[in-house]
Amino acid sequence: MRRYRSIAALRRDNAACVRCSDAGYPIAPPPVLGAVHGQRAFLFGLAPGALEAAAGRPWRGRAGRALRRWLRLDEEELERVFYCGSVTRCFPGRAAAGRGDRAATAEEQRLCASWAEEELRLLRPALVVTVGAVAARRLLGVERLADAVGKSFAFGEAVAVPLPHPSGASGWLNEPANRARLGKALTHVRREIAGLAEPER
Ligand code: SF4
Repeated sequence: MRRYRSIAALRRDNAACVRCSDAGYPIAPPPVLGAVHGQRAFLFGLAPGALEAAAGRPWRGRAGRALRRWLRLDEEELERVFYCGSVTRCFPGRAAAGRGDRAATAEEQRLCASWAEEELRLLRPALVVTVGAVAARRLLGVERLADAVGKSFAFGEAVAVPLPHPSGASGWLNEPANRARLGKALTHVRREIAGLAEPER
């Protein structure tokens, strides 16, 4: 894995990445990369959808609206607070059967992993928020969302808080106990965000 000296150099190479298409996966580069301007929080989602790919910005679709409602942040605030990374960064295309987008394979996730690893090394965020089961598993080794949502984890020097995916596709939030877990997690994330706004002592 290449070690980058600057986030600008990493993002320049990430923007031109074609690892998955070179490996034969039906993925649609270019990657969707969030803005960078000294954020101290890192948001780690699954993959961009069609709307994000069209806009070239993260969290533009229905799931993004739900996530912003959860966090009480508008589009601008979300990107001001969080550097937005994801498990895979290119739109994976629609699922061949059924609703929704194709799930990127474990190999695509592996091919993409170094971008987030290097981002985290260079940015050294104080807060990491994972969104969805795949992101929590990749970054925190969490096996079951129910065991993790509502809790916080040490992640290097950062505090990591897992959230479920806001798309609602899994039905995980239909369970009242899981909605209570989400409420606890959101209280924690909002408190951490408020703490980031305070001057460092
Ligand atoms: S998903 Fe990640 S590894 Fe695959 S082509 Fe896009 S940026 Fe590269």
